[in-house]
Amino acid sequence: MTTNLLDYDLEGLAAFCERLGEKRFRATQLFRWIHQRGASSFDQMTDLAKSLREKLPVSARIEGMTLVSRHDSVDGTIKWLFSVGAGDVIETVFIPESDRGTLCISSQAGCAVGCRFCSTGHQGFSRNLTTAEIIGQLWFAEHSLRQQLKKPERVISNVVMMGMGEPLQNYTQLLPALRVMLDDHGYGLSRRRVTVSTSGVVPMMDRLGQDCPVALAVSLHAPVDALRSDLVPLNKKYPIAELLEACVRYQQFAPRDFITFEYCMLDGVNDQPEHARQLIALMQQHAAGGLSCKFNLIPFNPFPASGLTRSAMPEVVAFAKILMDAGIVTTVRKTRGDDIDAACGQLAGDVQDRTGVERRIASQRQGMLGSIKVVVTREVGT
Ligand code: SAH
Ligand code: SF4
Repeated sequence: MTTNLLDYDLEGLAAFCERLGEKRFRATQLFRWIHQRGASSFDQMTDLAKSLREKLPVSARIEGMTLVSRHDSVDGTIKWLFSVGAGDVIETVFIPESDRGTLCISSQAGCAVGCRFCSTGHQGFSRNLTTAEIIGQLWFAEHSLRQQLKKPERVISNVVMMGMGEPLQNYTQLLPALRVMLDDHGYGLSRRRVTVSTSGVVPMMDRLGQDCPVALAVSLHAPVDALRSDLVPLNKKYPIAELLEACVRYQQFAPRDFITFEYCMLDGVNDQPEHARQLIALMQQHAAGGLSCKFNLIPFNPFPASGLTRSAMPEVVAFAKILMDAGIVTTVRKTRGDDIDAACGQLAGDVQDRTGVERRIASQRQGMLGSIKVVVTREVGT
């Protein structure tokens, strides 16, 4: 079996080249062909030494995932579904905005955390994605969009690890993928334009801070442990105080950055004024330790099995106002690609008819984000 070169960051590719008896600098050439030019065949790499071009196909390949379908929203949002084998399907979403293009990437097929409000969580865990499957989403999206839009330069300016799965429960495969995103010979994205979103895997937050301190989003969803443990079972292992201490430590590696707290607004569950006041107390307590944060309120995308409903907009706005009045920067996420979300539910049925893999086609509408800034006031901690 040949090695998929999408599995390597530049360092890994250099080691691979050395194993082939090639100079390390050849790896840079190869890496640029793959990630900057989207090459999928060695024949395309005309400036690569002929001897290497002949050697490579024997031991290596550049292989993306099988595209199952593409859905285009009227608002420009694009969603791709990829098959990753054994009936597993993952999704990737592109969200164009006037000043940026964001790609929402999946890190696992399914998820083991099992949050109550998340459709992926309800599916259960299937498997970790490989580095090739994680970076392959960016590789595919970037180069197919460039081709489609006839743009020679970069289309995707931001990446959020907010698709299916808990990225920090797939750290080994995630890290090389992040490095490819940041590498100047790869996608050259700045550290602050790549966001890892986590439900709070504390030890891995520490590792990420040390290895690759990209922007961090933490899915908080509740101000007290009893409620958070009910919504995000991982809280039983890493309760709120530990999580916030890890956020403070993370900021030592990412100075002048905010931690974004995501908060999914669930009607009558976590959206009451009292919850907002508890959040303020919590943030103020940790601001003293150096935490600077902002909040992103996410209108819940309901699905029947959750038994939960979305908070009404006035409640969301009232909640945001309480936070803002206490000086916490708060945004309310605007859902994008609503029409293809609906289409996705239908698609799940379609796919089941054909292949019986419907249960794998989870869709987390939360991936499709833009955000409306409600008001910006002074952030906690400054
Ligand atoms: N596992 C990571 C990243 C993927 S989930 C995490 O939990 O952070 C990305 C975001 O979508 C998280 O903030 C998650 O809480 C939120 N989310 C999940 N299901 C949702 C739903 N049905 N409606 C709105 N947001 C949801
Ligand atoms: Fe997993 Fe994130 Fe969904 Fe929770 S919200 S089940 S951590 S993907």
